[in-house]
Amino acid sequence: MLTVIEAQNLVLQHARPLPAELMRLDDALGLMLAEDIASDLDIPPYDKSMMDGYAVRSADLPQGNGVLTVIEEVMAGQTPRLPVAAGQATRIMTGAPLPADADGVVKVECTRLLDGHRVEIADAPVKPGQNILYRGREMRRGDVVLKTGAVLGPQDLGLLATVGRAEARLVPRPRVAVLSTGDEVVEAPQMPGPGQIRNSNAPMLLAQVRRAGAAPHYLGIGRDRVDSLRPLIDEGLRAPVLVLSGGVSAGKLDLVPGVLADLGVGAHFHKVEMKPGKPIFFGTRGSTLVFGLPGNPVSSLVCFELFVRPAVRRLMGHADSAPRMRPLPLGDDFAYKTDRPTYYPARLDVADDGWRVRPVPWFGSADLRALSGTNAFVLFPAGDHQHRQGQRFPVLICDTP
Ligand code: AMP
Ligand code: MG
Repeated sequence: MLTVIEAQNLVLQHARPLPAELMRLDDALGLMLAEDIASDLDIPPYDKSMMDGYAVRSADLPQGNGVLTVIEEVMAGQTPRLPVAAGQATRIMTGAPLPADADGVVKVECTRLLDGHRVEIADAPVKPGQNILYRGREMRRGDVVLKTGAVLGPQDLGLLATVGRAEARLVPRPRVAVLSTGDEVVEAPQMPGPGQIRNSNAPMLLAQVRRAGAAPHYLGIGRDRVDSLRPLIDEGLRAPVLVLSGGVSAGKLDLVPGVLADLGVGAHFHKVEMKPGKPIFFGTRGSTLVFGLPGNPVSSLVCFELFVRPAVRRLMGHADSAPRMRPLPLGDDFAYKTDRPTYYPARLDVADDGWRVRPVPWFGSADLRALSGTNAFVLFPAGDHQHRQGQRFPVLICDTP
């Protein structure tokens, strides 16, 4: 049976970044830039005051004290009309352009207005350039401010606007189709009849798709009949990624692998040495990636984080698409016996003395309730072990604490 690492490598071998497109930037958070971005301006575009106060000539205030004549007031958005001559000052607001011949700004807190026309300054000796950001200090016109491969954060979106961009070439979000399967599965608003259960996997997986940065597309519930599954899977195969839940194990009505094969999906693996989630299926048709996740909710959730998310990140062009696994210390002693490497739900927290991971009480792959408030899985090895507080284990981080 494949190990998780071997299976992840197989998935990543088949995942290629999507072609870049010219896109609007309104919904670009987390997307990868596919062009270098150069500034169309000097920034700041003019010598700019960084304080509310008075623009002065430093030569007038070698000791920082004096009385100057106020000749003008400049708000942000206005331009000064008068140069500052010896013995003069201009009242200036943060962000306003510096008047000609001034070379320093005294902040308003160090001044006292004597009458409408004179101001008394009581500051430290004024240095040339004080409280001024000179034209082009941040960037020069033509400077490359963001490079191909940058993953856009909020600050980058601000920077793109600064240099006049409302569009850029980006690797788009992959569409991820999600299909639930099972005769027993009903949607949330419905009261389940005898033998039925509600569809927890679809809302959960659609949210995981979104958290991974991709665009979810819900296909509904396929019944455990070929004539129900086939058209839905056929539709799902038009997306770059299709995620199914249920119907991939060894049951009599686990029809998904057969229907996938009929529709031309080649299987790459159909079992991985792990718990929960062992019966996971992965296949491809052309460049479409197909994941058949076992129906138990916790199995689906773990398999998504271990296999689907890295694939989605790779499609989005991210250089580091591996799952976030880090060796972190246990917060409590924990006795645990298992026959396969097990991803155990846990809460990861950061305290003054560092990171701690604490397994939560859990009844196995169907017990989704136990996962509320968790953000990670601890990977415990097979065997019967008394794990000790402070011992380090690989931790799969699903969400930031
Ligand atoms: P399967 O993988 O189809 O054999 O399903 C395994 C278990 O997961 C069964 O108990 C199913 O009822 C349950 N299950 C399957 N699909 C879902 C779903 N969408 N939501 C919640 N439980 C499910
Ligand atoms: Mg089923």
